Amino acid sequence: MSGERFEKEFSEMMALMERHGSVLVTGHIDPDGDCIGSMFAIALMLEEMGKTVMCYAPGEISELFLKLPGASMLARREDASNFKHDLIIAVDSPNTARTEHFARPCENEDVINIDHHPTNEMYGCVNIVDGDAAATTVLVYRFFMSSAPDRMTSDIADCLYLGILMDTGGFRFRNVDSEALRVSSELLDLGARAFDLAHEYIYMKKFSTLKLLGLVLDSLRLHLDGRAATMEVTSEMLEKSGTTLKDSEGFVDYGAALDDVELVALFRETAPGEIRVSLRSKNHYDVSALAERFGGGGHVRAAGLTLETADLASARETIVKGFKEMLD
Ligand code: AMP
Ligand code: MN
Ligand code: MN
Repeated sequence: MSGERFEKEFSEMMALMERHGSVLVTGHIDPDGDCIGSMFAIALMLEEMGKTVMCYAPGEISELFLKLPGASMLARREDASNFKHDLIIAVDSPNTARTEHFARPCENEDVINIDHHPTNEMYGCVNIVDGDAAATTVLVYRFFMSSAPDRMTSDIADCLYLGILMDTGGFRFRNVDSEALRVSSELLDLGARAFDLAHEYIYMKKFSTLKLLGLVLDSLRLHLDGRAATMEVTSEMLEKSGTTLKDSEGFVDYGAALDDVELVALFRETAPGEIRVSLRSKNHYDVSALAERFGGGGHVRAAGLTLETADLASARETIVKGFKEMLD
């Protein structure tokens, strides 16, 4: 846990939330549970404060998130673009490009940037960035406890718990620390539904998603004496199983289940001529450095990038070469 408590930033954040009437809460493309949980928790608080609020993150949103408290504030892209706001709050997004520029740098309007990516570009007027926090919702929790403890509700506790649950892979990843566990425990006392959230967001899968997993596991390959693994999601696999790309969320972690595997890559055909690569490192190798070489980024042990190619074999070759340099 980092020692930074952000007392000054939290009171600046609170002052901006109080001062402004219309707020856009935004997050990164293809939002995960941490991004969604952070957005909805902040939006629920703003709604209670009587503000006009919209939440928007570009890309695909899993329908599971639509069941969460706060989901009614999720806007369509067009509505978010036309929304006249006087404050932007960006969550879980290291730079404005990750939000497709719905977040903007602090120039002409007030921007709050709250995130746990070490590569964060500090684009906000207020920056609450702690690369050691297990999830962005840990930082949002600190904000609530420091500036608005009375505004915490069981709905907000659910949203914040979901962020920690999902960014730690159900409390399995190396980012689990005492603060993540302590905050989770406090969120349970505040009404978070630990079992229901674990069941719905980690354990339960649709029939079609399990069929897709079967196809993706069948593509598993080992490289570099079994120290690296790759898998792929092709458009044929999606068609055959009746799924979409967002149904393959979390599949990359299966590669790390193998004992000797240190590095994993999952390749997904996201558009014609475009392959999205998810990278994972089990112990100490830094995959964000590899992602950055190709214009991507992320954390030491979980990062992503996009390659402009239609050729899965060449994408695999490029990344395995990068892995080889890391392992040598
Ligand atoms: P993913 O493989 O999509 O699950 O991403 C793994 C982690 O890397 C997540 O924490 C993302 O927020 C981060 N990440 C993925 N792609 C990028 C990118 N292009 N730039 C910065 N961070 C990224
Ligand atoms: Mn995220
Ligand atoms: Mn996160």
